[in-house]
Amino acid sequence: MDVALVGIGKIAVDQHVPAINASPDWTLSATVSRHGSVEGVPAYTDFAEMLKERVDIRVVSLCLPPVPRFEYAKAALLAGRHVMLEKPPGATLAECHELLAIAKERRLSLYATWHSREAEMVPAARAWLAGKTLKRMHVDWREDVRRWHPGQEWIWEPGGMGVFDPGINALSIVTEILPDPIHLTGASLDFPEGRQAPIGAELAFAHPKGAEVSAVFDWRKEGDQYWTIEVETEEGTLRLLDGGARMEIDGKPAEAAPDDALSGEYPRLYDKMAALVKEGGIDADFSPLVHVADAFMLGRRNTVAPFNE
Ligand code: NAP
Repeated sequence: MDVALVGIGKIAVDQHVPAINASPDWTLSATVSRHGSVEGVPAYTDFAEMLKERVDIRVVSLCLPPVPRFEYAKAALLAGRHVMLEKPPGATLAECHELLAIAKERRLSLYATWHSREAEMVPAARAWLAGKTLKRMHVDWREDVRRWHPGQEWIWEPGGMGVFDPGINALSIVTEILPDPIHLTGASLDFPEGRQAPIGAELAFAHPKGAEVSAVFDWRKEGDQYWTIEVETEEGTLRLLDGGARMEIDGKPAEAAPDDALSGEYPRLYDKMAALVKEGGIDADFSPLVHVADAFMLGRRNTVAPFNE
């Protein structure tokens, strides 16, 4: 299948292009970007022009930041294209639901991807937790924003989400592996003076069976970086490390399921998109974004030291 890739920036170049090129399902047939392009691939700067000229391309994969992405997604669906969205699926929940409604009405595939759910050990963590009695879960997501987001001004703007840009990856894993739904009860958000998005967040959640659930996201971590989820149950303790790449049960390393032929988060996303398009399916779970929205609604705001690159 032909796919057009839109927004040729960091994630498009690092992950989408290699995953598409390595896939037997996909051909990268066009790019749309104001500045970026991919060697050997027809490049457009205007999205409407690409949609009009390239009626042969039925699938569009959108790698833009969340705020500008909505108009592109809506235009693609209205032009009859199947759409794959980078995470987070939108800057607001209302726009996500609007895209879902259009896709359903026009019988098009919409895939709101969560790449962290495709990390190696996430399915194993979900399987291990099924049927266990949860006592405590803590998410520790601490990284250096200067290292991972150099020069990305949009993450500090309204809708850019700040530290929730990586934090929502943790929430996408949490909502995937926990057998019971949780909801946010409180948050403390650190906004650098003069910035529109937080650099740090502490979150507390209610669990229907009374387990203690919390998360810390921090973008001020230099040195060692942590993307860890620890889950204590009555039957033992699970730790997901390195964003879901590794897992320990009671301190011992666990093995991934041996029958998983595809390796890597983005190859798995494109494999799922191919299946969705073939079967006319939709995969749009907005639950990680619900928690982020709730944190912005309920969170106590603290002003902290200005952030300068
Ligand atoms: P990025 O490199 O800053 O932006 C991607 C591209 O989007 C830019 O190169 C730009 O291309 C286009 N763009 C930016 N603002 C735009 C606007 N206002 N209107 C139209 N196009 C615009 O961002 P990224 O790191 O690739 O992240 C993009 C999305 O992927 C985000 O939602 C992010 O959460 C997600 N993601 C990122 C990572 C990562 O490691 N960076 C990992 C996983 C997921 P042109 O200027 O050429 O048009």
